[in-house]
Amino acid sequence: MISVEETLRRILERTRPLATETVSLGEARGRVLREDVFADRDLPPFDRSAVDGYAVRAACLADGGRLRVVDQVPAGAMPRVPVGPGEAAAIMTGAPLPEGADSAIMVEHTVREGDFVVWPAPGRNPPPVEPGNRVTARGAEVRKGAKLLEAGVRVSPAGVGLLATVGKARVAVARRPRAAVFSTGDELRHPRSAKLRPAQIRDANSHMIAARCRALGLPVRRLGFAADDPGRLAATIRSGLAADVLFISGGVSMGRYDYVEPVLERAGVRLLVTAVAIRPGKPFVFGIREGSSPVFVFGLPGNPVSALTTFEVFARPALDALQGIADPRPPRPSVRLLAPVSQRGPRRAFLPARVGLAADGALTAQPIRSQGSGDIAAVALANALVIVPEHAGTIPAGDSVEAQPLPGFPDAGAGWHDPRR
Ligand code: AMP
Ligand code: MG
Repeated sequence: MISVEETLRRILERTRPLATETVSLGEARGRVLREDVFADRDLPPFDRSAVDGYAVRAACLADGGRLRVVDQVPAGAMPRVPVGPGEAAAIMTGAPLPEGADSAIMVEHTVREGDFVVWPAPGRNPPPVEPGNRVTARGAEVRKGAKLLEAGVRVSPAGVGLLATVGKARVAVARRPRAAVFSTGDELRHPRSAKLRPAQIRDANSHMIAARCRALGLPVRRLGFAADDPGRLAATIRSGLAADVLFISGGVSMGRYDYVEPVLERAGVRLLVTAVAIRPGKPFVFGIREGSSPVFVFGLPGNPVSALTTFEVFARPALDALQGIADPRPPRPSVRLLAPVSQRGPRRAFLPARVGLAADGALTAQPIRSQGSGDIAAVALANALVIVPEHAGTIPAGDSVEAQPLPGFPDAGAGWHDPRR
């Protein structure tokens, strides 16, 4: 049994970014950059009016004034004439400021009288016009050549807008790992099964893990479930090894029918982790089938809470690392416990909890009462895993601990109650 830290170290040591590929803007969101992105010109590229109104010389409006309108400048056009003393040019938001003008005034603060514009309009009391008023100077946002996005960051929707702004219609990103998922267990049946014998249960894990991978933006093949039979298992593993990352649930414990480890080894998978000091999820397995494109195999314990926990703690950072994320270790925000948690033994506990935002802005964690690692109804309510260190004993309510966020983290308010209570 090795520690959570040592397990993560062994996994992240081997999960290097996959090959680089080039994608268009439509595919860039959620992908991880493999190149730095620079400004190809100043932003804005010209002194830009921030308003619909008039380009003026601020000095001409010291005590208000009446200016002759000599031009009209729409966005996308260059001014045709300079603005001289006593003159103005009608200008639209986003249009370049004419030569001679040093500021812009809002149309709402003016009245038009034929070829003239009067500022301020009667009854209006706008602030005095200083040079630079309502104008964004060339390069004020970004200088040409400045680094805007760095290799190793995930592209957000705003990032796509930025790529578009600087003309990066195609961008280098890491290839996304293709995942394959299947469950093992003689007891498993398809979720659509209506007539289950008492000892049979529906396969939750292959669906849960596939859904999690999809939520992370990965292409997934779900291979269903295999019986606890070395032959069947070997066939399904062979087909799963066509992916970059293979998730297997179940069959990694000490039971008489837990064949996953020997069958993986026979399929050429070198096992680097076979038991971890984590609660739940101790039987977690990690291995690699080396080759020109290595396959990373995660053997998740069959208990759904263990499967989800070990996926989040070990597989998720690996999936980020394979995509080139600079720091793939998940954030560990501090949360204030609303109820005590405990961990006596040498394992590190990751306990399902509901984290909300308290009125004072702090994050609070309500541990979800659970019947243990088979309790999928408990983990389905969680939006975080509260981390209780090895040998921590009991940590009382009011103390703070670290948590690993899950989807839905955090609740907007702290008023969350376990509906099962
Ligand atoms: P195992 O890791 O195969 O020993 O399974 C541990 C527990 O998890 C047993 O109670 C199994 O019935 C249950 N289990 C295994 N696989 C699944 C699955 N895919 N969906 C739901 N429960 C499962
Ligand atoms: Mg089993």
